Amino acid sequence: MLPLAAVIGDPISHSKSPRLHGYWLEQFGINGHYVPLHVPAEELENTLKLLPSLGFRGINVTIPHKERVLEMAREISPTAQRIGAANTLTFLDDGGFEADNTDAYGFLENLKHGAPDWDASAGPAAVLGAGGASRAILDALLQAGCPEIRLSNRTAQRAEAIKDIVGKRIKIVTWGNEEALYKDVALAVNTTSLGMKGQDNFPFSLRGLDEKALVTDLIYTPLQTPFLERASQLGCRTVDGLGMLLHQAVPGFHRWFGMRPEVTPELRALVLGS
Ligand code: NAP
Repeated sequence: MLPLAAVIGDPISHSKSPRLHGYWLEQFGINGHYVPLHVPAEELENTLKLLPSLGFRGINVTIPHKERVLEMAREISPTAQRIGAANTLTFLDDGGFEADNTDAYGFLENLKHGAPDWDASAGPAAVLGAGGASRAILDALLQAGCPEIRLSNRTAQRAEAIKDIVGKRIKIVTWGNEEALYKDVALAVNTTSLGMKGQDNFPFSLRGLDEKALVTDLIYTPLQTPFLERASQLGCRTVDGLGMLLHQAVPGFHRWFGMRPEVTPELRALVLGS
């Protein structure tokens, strides 16, 4: 059977994953396909049962299914368990699936490539946002040895709820209190959708942020977000969010198609152009 993989979500037409997996399939000369599938919530369970019998080896999962797939998984990786969501499913021989989360891996790989000398244990990190993506970033930073994370979110209860699950190295900072958020941090991360094309603009300065801090944004449309732009104006080094998207795809491709792909400037250019 032709090896197949997919990304499922609702909506799905915006996904860049088919383009990037398609590039790797072609590069390795693998006769397989990676397709986008529009799967509404009520079709999720049936789809997950059907896909392996059609030759699908695994799938990426995006909004709104990332949490719910954990209830249906036969096996859950420790990372997906800690984050409470999965983005990479691999079908097992008996038709069940293993659920993993590679967003934390993608985030750290992106920083490793963009700022090779950055060290998570060097100092506290400021994280804006407590939505779905934030949990993966907090997990990545804690696993990498970050000593303290200042977490700030418009809806304070959401940040408090994460702190209750994730633990004591998280300190909640009131939304808009820039100085408390940024003082002495070695890393600042925007995980909110503020500054994304079509969304509200990022409303704050980065007052109090040291020029030696590394700054990154999960948003990649536009690549140069208002958050990164303000950091650059302070003299900080910045890493954009596109690399996270590219790197998080590597483990899935490797598992499903048997080859470990690389994130190259050509791939970046291709995905940017799509
Ligand atoms: P989400 O679950 O919807 O969370 C959105 C976050 O943004 C929440 O913290 C929310 O705060 C905040 N927010 C939204 N509008 C706001 C506003 N007007 N003022 C203040 N805060 C606001 O989304 P997500 O899945 O975490 O994704 C967040 C961003 O990360 C998106 O732009 C997404 O594209 C990007 N992302 C990138 C990658 C990558 O690979 N680079 C991966 C995942 C996500 P409240 O809790 O107060 O609503």
